[in-house]
Amino acid sequence: MSIQIQNVSKKYGSFQALEDISVHIQSGELVALLGPSGSGKTSLLRVIAGLETTDVGNILFDGQSITDRHPKERNVGFVFQHYALFRHMTVFDNVAYGLKVRPRKSRPSKQQIKDKVMELLQLVKLENFSDRYPTQLSGGQRQRVALARALAVEPKVLLLDEPFGALDAKVRKELRRWLRKLHDEFHITSIFVTHDQEEALDVADRIVVMNNGKIEQIGSPDEVYTNPKSPFVYDFLGNVNLFKGRLHNGKLMQGEVALDVPEALTHSEDNAIGYVRPHDIQIEKTSISGTVPVKISHIHLLGPIVQIELRREDLDEFLEAELSKEQFHLLQLKVGDQVFVKPKQLKVFIPEDYSI
Ligand code: ADP
Ligand code: MG
Repeated sequence: MSIQIQNVSKKYGSFQALEDISVHIQSGELVALLGPSGSGKTSLLRVIAGLETTDVGNILFDGQSITDRHPKERNVGFVFQHYALFRHMTVFDNVAYGLKVRPRKSRPSKQQIKDKVMELLQLVKLENFSDRYPTQLSGGQRQRVALARALAVEPKVLLLDEPFGALDAKVRKELRRWLRKLHDEFHITSIFVTHDQEEALDVADRIVVMNNGKIEQIGSPDEVYTNPKSPFVYDFLGNVNLFKGRLHNGKLMQGEVALDVPEALTHSEDNAIGYVRPHDIQIEKTSISGTVPVKISHIHLLGPIVQIELRREDLDEFLEAELSKEQFHLLQLKVGDQVFVKPKQLKVFIPEDYSI
């Protein structure tokens, strides 16, 4: 089932929660809505589920407008952060619920329900827990039951609203793998809301980055991470170093320092900020043109990536670089060394308000 969100806007009173949102989600895609708290992610999910109306705009499933269709008729499965499983029901009955309450005509037989529930419990590795009650499960197990319950009614669309948000990091990672696996198996068009950039980058086919009720960027994880279209996306999707200066003849000038920005050759002289990811900071032992002198202030050696904190004495600022272990050992760096850095990729934005 493909989902088309066309020019959707939504206000609560005078507050604009969604502003002209358009996204086309392919059938079988797993899309993450990523954005800070209050950016409108839940509102958009509720609009798709029919739990909230739109002021303007349309939602289409497989090309058919469902904007006026009742939530029950949309065939949408929902998993929330705190999915209240029925406390008085066993795991089995929780998962079976959606099938048991179907009108008699479309209700599967008892045996069919049992087979289906056990198949789903096997899938989420809870087949030995079918007689337990929710209070006898860990948080991660409960969310796996919630997933199985949402899938039991064979929804055409699966909506997940920060489903792992209340769990600790390790369990979250494990559940991400579950979600990916379930998705690969069922190919249900799924929208996954999160404010955790790592989670979105890890799990999604595509990411919709939201801010203040608007879409900032839509793209594959790699696209939004390596080629952010706005300072907001740069900042929200990972660590970034800022180089504030003034554009002049294809260079970003910072006092004595001139950094190459070929794409800015046509720009007029303007105040600008260059954005560089830590792994795009190149470290040199000797000064060459377009480098910035810095001093190594800290080296963080854990894991395969070495993080290096560098102090710019000219501006009293810090930069962060990331090197592989091999590069790090080749360069033989140590705290206190004077080195020279050069951005391998410098993406400049002209801020509307230079006081950022
Ligand atoms: P997110 O899920 O990204 O955190 P939400 O969609 O829940 O964002 O909320 C977006 C904004 O809309 C927030 O500022 C929130 O306070 C507001 N909001 C959400 N639901 C309502 C409501 N029913 N009435 C009034 N304001 C709401
Ligand atoms: Mg929310």
